Amino acid sequence: MPEIPDLEVVKDFLNERIAGREIVRAEARRPRIARSLAADDFVADVTGHTFGKVPRLGKDLLFPLNPDRVLARGKFLSGIGNAYVDDILWAARVSPFRKRKDLSDEELRKVYDAVPEVLQEAIDVVRERMPPDIHREVRHFLKVHRKASEPCPRCGAIVSEITPNQRITSWCRSCQPGGLIKD
Ligand SMILES: [Zn+2]
Repeated sequence: MPEIPDLEVVKDFLNERIAGREIVRAEARRPRIARSLAADDFVADVTGHTFGKVPRLGKDLLFPLNPDRVLARGKFLSGIGNAYVDDILWAARVSPFRKRKDLSDEELRKVYDAVPEVLQEAIDVVRERMPPDIHREVRHFLKVHRKASEPCPRCGAIVSEITPNQRITSWCRSCQPGGLIKD
């Protein structure tokens, strides 16, 4: 298992080489690893996309793709965990139930802008709190994820939560209207 200093070096290595480059061909050599990505067709979903700058989040290196592909399968952000997706969509004021094709350019831009914002905040907190149990400690700063029945930090409405297929989705019905039901 690589440790943080190793990952920092790998991150720099990758950023010098892949940031801004287009993925022309992809192959899932270990489907178990690609499985955690939101898309069920990993190869089709990443091909043609451009790598953004790779951030490290705890012991994970994240591979953000360009804004066009930021929402995969209409709901999920590729390669980013549920907790952060919830907070990214909340920051962008976009309902987790909207489909990507229905989002305006401005909405997509807001989602895209929120990715580094939310992740950087998480990285700062995680970095500060290393090395204690980050899995327990890391969650408290999230704005909406797992905050059901608490007030939304932006508008004060009560945060909603559903758990389809045991995947927790938290969002603010007031800040992120629309999209639920019709699917
Ligand atoms: Zn709200």
